[in-house]
Amino acid sequence: MTRMLIMGPPGSGKGTQASRIADKLGIVPISTGDIFRHNVKAMTPLGVEAKRYIDNGDFVPDDVTNRMVADRIAQPDAEHGFLLDGYPRTAGQVEALDAMLREAGQALSAVVELEVPDAELVERLLKRAEIEGRADDTQDVIQHRLDLYHRETEVVIENYVDRGIVARVDGTGQIDDVTERLLQAVYSVRAATGTLPVITPRTEA
Ligand code: ADP
Repeated sequence: MTRMLIMGPPGSGKGTQASRIADKLGIVPISTGDIFRHNVKAMTPLGVEAKRYIDNGDFVPDDVTNRMVADRIAQPDAEHGFLLDGYPRTAGQVEALDAMLREAGQALSAVVELEVPDAELVERLLKRAEIEGRADDTQDVIQHRLDLYHRETEVVIENYVDRGIVARVDGTGQIDDVTERLLQAVYSVRAATGTLPVITPRTEA
């Protein structure tokens, strides 16, 4: 059973890699950014509430985000494992996730962090802006999201480093190569922490 997180700054390729890895591992990818964007598009109450934060590159308040994630990971398809993409990003979200998992008698088996230099991130995001036209991919908002990442989310990762479940992965280069590195990293963490699924040898009667 794999319950894991993928972390990394905006533009690091988290979303792309999350669906690839989740696919390989047979678990569901859960992207808080995607869920918010769906809700914004459908103009649900959650979307209306979240939109002003997202457009400015700010974090949606913890209570809203935490509730949304709690609902999502309680769905039947997440029972056999999940990969959270874009959550947790604040100390409060780490606490909330710990509480959710504790209550369900679950634990995280790995956290992978994608590393890409800031200059390349800005370049990638500006290019994406031309192609996808995401409202939050303007130069100012990009810079703000990067600052927030460095200020708030990087320290969040330290929490998991202390638990010995983090692997840092070079997020530059070919997409396929990054996927391979990530899968290898998940395997290494799980081997080192002893959470790889154990195959019990059949014993003769
Ligand atoms: P990026 O990593 O490029 O910022 P995402 O698609 O992951 O893109 O997130 C887009 C936006 O959605 C964020 O800027 C933020 O406003 C909101 N969001 C996503 N995840 C969270 C979260 N865990 N906590 C608060 N806000 C979030």
